[in-house]
Amino acid sequence: MNQQQLQGKVALITGAASGIGHATALLMAKEGAKIVLVDINNERSEKTVQHIEQAGGNCLFIDTDVANPERVENAVKQAIEAFGQLDIIFANAGINGTVAPIEDITADQWDETLTTNLKSTFLTVKYAIPHMKTNGGSIIVTSSINGSRKFSSFGMSAYSSSKAGQVAFAKMAALELARYKIRVNVICPGAIATNISENTFRQPEVSEIEIPVTYPEGKQPLEHGPGSAEQVANLVLFLASTGSSHVTGSEVFIDGAETLL
Ligand code: NAD
Repeated sequence: MNQQQLQGKVALITGAASGIGHATALLMAKEGAKIVLVDINNERSEKTVQHIEQAGGNCLFIDTDVANPERVENAVKQAIEAFGQLDIIFANAGINGTVAPIEDITADQWDETLTTNLKSTFLTVKYAIPHMKTNGGSIIVTSSINGSRKFSSFGMSAYSSSKAGQVAFAKMAALELARYKIRVNVICPGAIATNISENTFRQPEVSEIEIPVTYPEGKQPLEHGPGSAEQVANLVLFLASTGSSHVTGSEVFIDGAETLL
């Protein structure tokens, strides 16, 4: 049997109930990590817990809105109480939020997207740092192709701004935390088949600002369709493991080359 890559490690994953976070939780548990599942969706979280436990893994679900500082601080505290250490942080929870022309998006809608995606990343990293300083570790942030290589998702100015902010934050954090041997990397997925459409609120006015963008053939050159959450999970596993011990401050695109068209 192959040596498990994350044996003895503890991983805290936000947005762990669904999509990319769910697939990563399952994969990291299979690789021997104890998993702290952080999400607001209790039903899907419970299913993820069952899935991990049935496969012989060890995990804890903490019902947490990652936009709420007290709740994030408390989630980290509970994780430490349960498992005594934190080695891997996957700051992944996110929403598309309101998709609308800039003149129509409200200040509250803007704040909701920025807070859920960007402020949550800051909070998750901030409260984890004190527990990772001694032994080092790996932080992985889920950004997107939007805000880094792609600017044609019309109506997604708030989302793209939040995702661009995550890339800048991850690079700042990589430098600041290198002294503690904490690596920080950011992944930029293209279209991935998940449940994110449930948190996408497209306003009809978007059609007024759209400029047609047509791919030459197929949607993603490599596989002619969206990637899977499991493919993203494999990248996150690599960034969490010692196999990537010299990789920090990097943004890694996982999009089947869709943004090179
Ligand atoms: P998903 O909707 O399947 O999963 C996201 C999870 O985050 C859900 O379980 C949801 O309950 C949780 N979540 C949302 N708001 C939360 C909050 N305030 N507190 C705690 N948990 C919260 O979507 P996904 O596609 O797996 O998204 C994961 C990340 O990937 C997001 O940051 C998203 O922006 C990013 N991403 C997705 C795609 C894609 O095509 N699916 C592409 C690029 C980037």
